[in-house]
Amino acid sequence: MPTTPAPAPISDAYAGAILTIDLDAIVANYRLLSGKLSGASLSAVVKADGYGLGAEPVAAALAGAGCRVFYVAHIEEGIRLRQALNDTGNSDFVQAEIHVLGGLLPNTEDAYDASRLIPVLGSLDQIHNWKSYCQRLERPLPCDIHADTGMARLGLPPVEVEKLVEEPSRLDDLNILTVISHLACADEPDNPKNAEQLDAFRELRRHLPQGLASFANSSGIFLGPDYHFDQARPGAALFGVAPVPGDPNPMAQVVKLQGKIAQVRAVDTPQTVGYGASHRIESPARIATVIIGYADGFLRSLSNKGTGYIGNIPVPVVGRVSMDLITLDVTGVPEHLCPVGALVDLIGPNNPIDQVAAAAGTIGYEILTSLGHRYHRAYVGGGST
Ligand SMILES: *Cc1c(COP(=O)(O)O)cnc(C)c1O
Repeated sequence: MPTTPAPAPISDAYAGAILTIDLDAIVANYRLLSGKLSGASLSAVVKADGYGLGAEPVAAALAGAGCRVFYVAHIEEGIRLRQALNDTGNSDFVQAEIHVLGGLLPNTEDAYDASRLIPVLGSLDQIHNWKSYCQRLERPLPCDIHADTGMARLGLPPVEVEKLVEEPSRLDDLNILTVISHLACADEPDNPKNAEQLDAFRELRRHLPQGLASFANSSGIFLGPDYHFDQARPGAALFGVAPVPGDPNPMAQVVKLQGKIAQVRAVDTPQTVGYGASHRIESPARIATVIIGYADGFLRSLSNKGTGYIGNIPVPVVGRVSMDLITLDVTGVPEHLCPVGALVDLIGPNNPIDQVAAAAGTIGYEILTSLGHRYHRAYVGGGST
């Protein structure tokens, strides 16, 4: 009987693209933001798997830099992060606070307790349910209160805040760590909405002075000290996104994305490239096919719009982005610089996240959180990791 050879081991070394995440750059960004706050403490928002970069390695690096307060969006993200921080065995990391922005969904109280998660309570009902749970256990478990000052999304709407103020006993027996609110337009420094929300939050604090006041996201930190209160809650800027769109970006770049060339073809006669024949080659050109596509978060809106770099030479995306591949015009690049297997920078010093986002018609946040899972992911820096 012929023996069947063992299949090749799976290895992401064969991946079509390499995503390099610089944990030292994240730490540098944490320190830069910290330096902008006089007196206020700095937490880190690591929701959506650390903005696509891996919540666990990212949080471990931030904890190594002294961060002790993390925010996630979903309870499951909190459960995973708690496990990861426990697994480090470092008692400071194990003690870190994990707050869950999504609030208290029905029947999740036990999970909050078991994983030592802190619910960001966003309605009178949630406050009531958490209070009942704590009273039943006879333990005042920690929680936060989220008040809406102008997002109409999460948090107690003004009428509920009023009820709370009229009936302060609703907060009896609660261990409130933080009172938060969230800015709608912090990335537009001239938007009058910022000052309106600031006034509303100050007013709120007069009535709800419990715990720490937390208001500013990444961009909010750059609106100035009035917005800092006791604790800031940045996410995006930690990961290199420009906090003040249009201004030079003070944040260190965290992400590098490189795609591998699968084929290079010389095109001598007029013809079209890719699905929909959306790009036509009229004069002799060389086209490189690179192993990355919209399934990897290389957004389809970058069709005929994105730009890669080979060294410092720009190579435009021509034709449509397909699921697994893109095509780049490398006519201007010497042949020896773009052999099969060579890497093209798709996010890097020449084309940072915000620039890629602008070409795609979106924001850096979406570029980061769309980053795919077929990449070979390489973490650099971060001390022990
Ligand atoms: C996502 C989020 C943040 C972090 O915002 P960035 O703009 O990424 O800094 C802070 N607070 C709340 C409530 C959020 O939802």
